[in-house]
Amino acid sequence: MTRIIAIANQKGGVGKTTTCVNLAAALAEASRRVLVIDLDPQGNATMASGIDKRDAKPNGCDVLLEEVPIAQAIVTTSAGYDLLPGSGDLTAAEVKLMDALARETRLKGVLATLGDRYHTILIDCPPSLHLLTINALTAAHGVLIPVQCEYFALEGLSSLLDTIKAVRARLNPGLEVEGLLRTMFDIRNNLGNEVSAQLTKHFGDKVLRSIIPRNVRLAEAPSHGMPITQYDRESRGAIAYLGLAGEMLRRERALPATSHPV
Ligand code: ADP
Ligand code: MG
Repeated sequence: MTRIIAIANQKGGVGKTTTCVNLAAALAEASRRVLVIDLDPQGNATMASGIDKRDAKPNGCDVLLEEVPIAQAIVTTSAGYDLLPGSGDLTAAEVKLMDALARETRLKGVLATLGDRYHTILIDCPPSLHLLTINALTAAHGVLIPVQCEYFALEGLSSLLDTIKAVRARLNPGLEVEGLLRTMFDIRNNLGNEVSAQLTKHFGDKVLRSIIPRNVRLAEAPSHGMPITQYDRESRGAIAYLGLAGEMLRRERALPATSHPV
């Protein structure tokens, strides 16, 4: 069975895309067949995967509008995972979907056509809680929530959790919070520890053990179209994302048998 994980937080700049591409690459290294879906009109995950969003046609927009089968739009990347590219066209897709039948379940339907081709599908969500994110949450088994360890980190988390609850109630009863991931953690800054303590108080063991440090190599890698494990394998960022992949795999193994991937 495929495990589908939406990486969501309506705040921009919290590390969703960085987590998506680097976790994908780290899982691919562990021999997982991984598909990344770039659902953000900014197309950052596409560019960070070494694919030019301007050339990537067909893309996620064509797939969501059911103009092209997903298999035709998926590309392979040199980072070891496959990608459904995204671009500004997704904004148009979101507008057109507004009037479509079963608009929230489009992505779920599309992913069902892939069968067991992938072990893991990671969906990089846009910084909003609108229809594209709702499609991701409706298609997913779990939501991974990156939280930047800075002031106001917790602000906005309640509206994300309310949205998750609403999706669970109406569209996807099995949706789980996969975990909260602390990103851009700076050990020299007390704030990080304070935010960390608050997160643990509110969310207990939903807070993942892995912590992603602030690391400039992670910020540099996307402009080279490479995951951190290829760009600078010895960096603290690479070590952290490899650790996160290990933690996710261990958690997955602990799930009930029905949710087990292949
Ligand atoms: P989002 O997808 O949530 O908007 P990004 O992953 O694009 O966030 O990250 C926002 C910015 O911060 C990007 O420029 C990215 O390269 C940088 N960044 C992300 N994670 C880290 C990190 N751990 N250390 C340093 N820079 C980071
Ligand atoms: Mg992003």
